[in-house]
Amino acid sequence: MGTKFKLLFIVTIMLLALAIATIVNVSLNFREYSIKGATEKATMTAAIVKDGLTAHMVNDMMDKRQYFLDQISNNHSEVKSLWIVRSPQVTKQYGAGFQSETLRDDIDKEVLQSGKIVQTIQEGTDSIILRVSVPYVATTSQPNCLQCHNVQRGETLGAISMEFDITNMRNAGMVTILKILAINLGFIVIVLFLLNHYVSPYMKLFSSMQEGITKAYSGDFTHKFFTNVKGDARHIAEQLNTLFSKMQETFGNIKYNLSTFIPQGCVASKDPLQEAKSIIGELSDIYKFKKTIELDIDKETVYKRIIDALEYKFDIHEFAFYQVNQSSHERKLIYSSTDKAMCSDHVNHNANLCRAFRTQSDVISTEYIDLCQACHKQDGFYVCIPFSINDEYSIVLNIAAKNESEVSQINAMTPSIKNYFEAAKPVIESRILTAKLRDTSLRDGMTGLYNRRFLEEFIDQVISQANRKDETYTVLMLDVDFFKMVNDTYGHDLGDKVIVELANVLKKSIREADLAIRYGGEEFLILLHNATSEGALNVAQKIHQSFAALTFEVGMGETMKKTISIGIAKYPSDADSIWKTIKFADTALYEAKNTGRNKIVEFQADMFKGEDF
Ligand code: GH3
Ligand code: MG
Ligand code: MG
Repeated sequence: MGTKFKLLFIVTIMLLALAIATIVNVSLNFREYSIKGATEKATMTAAIVKDGLTAHMVNDMMDKRQYFLDQISNNHSEVKSLWIVRSPQVTKQYGAGFQSETLRDDIDKEVLQSGKIVQTIQEGTDSIILRVSVPYVATTSQPNCLQCHNVQRGETLGAISMEFDITNMRNAGMVTILKILAINLGFIVIVLFLLNHYVSPYMKLFSSMQEGITKAYSGDFTHKFFTNVKGDARHIAEQLNTLFSKMQETFGNIKYNLSTFIPQGCVASKDPLQEAKSIIGELSDIYKFKKTIELDIDKETVYKRIIDALEYKFDIHEFAFYQVNQSSHERKLIYSSTDKAMCSDHVNHNANLCRAFRTQSDVISTEYIDLCQACHKQDGFYVCIPFSINDEYSIVLNIAAKNESEVSQINAMTPSIKNYFEAAKPVIESRILTAKLRDTSLRDGMTGLYNRRFLEEFIDQVISQANRKDETYTVLMLDVDFFKMVNDTYGHDLGDKVIVELANVLKKSIREADLAIRYGGEEFLILLHNATSEGALNVAQKIHQSFAALTFEVGMGETMKKTISIGIAKYPSDADSIWKTIKFADTALYEAKNTGRNKIVEFQADMFKGEDF
């Protein structure tokens, strides 16, 4: 039942209750007053009859009494019947009297015995009769009854009984009650009409608010509130409309802004708040995952974290995780939850047989169980998700599903799984690179530092990773001053020793994230990761001083000391490419050499006289 009808129903019930109470009250009072009035009238009539009979007695006209009684009965319509009753003493003294003067009922008997007035009401469906009997008691004065009657004073001589018809009074009461009822019903109708007329618009607004809030509860803030009532109600409707549009816009923006952090989207919901909550939950999980894998040492450990997430976060228990080499098309099983591989071993030698890898799109077997020829799962379904890490590697996740409902669950989780892959991608890339950097062919055999080949092959990858993370590199170009003289004077062996000692100084002076490269004969390149200008200068000074402090034995008890010159340029603040930065560091080194050697020079724009890059 609507609120409006509830209200109208309650008001109707209250008014009806009030009407009934009024009618009951009026009826009871009316009856009481009617009976009281009729009783007084009947008692007075009986007293008049009594006085009339006394007058008849005193005037010795008792034989004419019946005429008197008939006159009263006939001329007063309310008096339905009137009779007198003789007491046994009077009957004994004067005989039985007229035939009508005998005991008619128990009331007559009671009045003769008690000497007290008795009155009763006899209510029938057609009529209502007031029955009154008044005793005629012997007195000694006015008149002295004892003069004629052989009785004691106070004894009952007889009774005057009558039936008073008060049906008219009852009918008048009924008419009054009906009138009150009609007035009340009329009043109720008018009240309900007015209530309906004035309350309806508020009720419509109220229903609209209920509808709007119900929609808002499920995230839909598009409801428009409207009312044709002026004043406060309209003001409230307008304020609600403004509030809802703001909410719609704000939640939409929050959802949009948050979703940009998650490449694959999240659990779609009609409720922007709910969706924002799930995006934040997902972001938080991914953030924690990312923080963890960033400290992992190699890509195998990162793969293990992904596998753990698949098992414990996504609750996937039957799956296989592969790594594919994009150039050799070789596939390697990283993890399988079961001994019975779903996918054919042939794929390991030719990854192109894997439909997911070949098409780089998800393969879901609900429509065709043999969608991928390589997959031989017959007792259920499978979902294969490929994901490209870089130009060299892809991963493929092969998930088994018992039924279509499980496939739907996996499909719903796929964007989230890909978000984890996306988060792991730069870390895996970085670990692949780190592993390559350990490769000996990229190192200089004499010093153990990276060689020029490393610089040429990998510096672009190192820098593109740095760019993604807004990282910087400061390039230090070092060259031993007058090195040729060492070779020429003390021989190549000592020259080699100087080079090795300088390399040791470099190794001791830099951190894990920095790179030291033997750039040429006795020329070295250092790339300081995320160093400030001051920090880079400090490292340069440390290297400069440490090397200058070294003493080389040249034989015959004699020693030699050497110095170095250093040029510094910063990426990306001095140059927009790493090769340009290396060139500028070389320019600064050239400046150091030209201005006396054994010094550190930071690159300034006016030092570079060459053509623009
Ligand atoms: P400058 O102060 O201008 O640098 O003068 P410099 O004599 O050091 O000149 P330069 O840097 O051109 O000298 C480089 C020399 O280093 C030339 C080369 O014979 C020598 N050299 C290059 N590689 C090796 C090496 O592996 N061992 C030794 N002993 N000498 C090397
Ligand atoms: Mg030199
Ligand atoms: Mg040199």
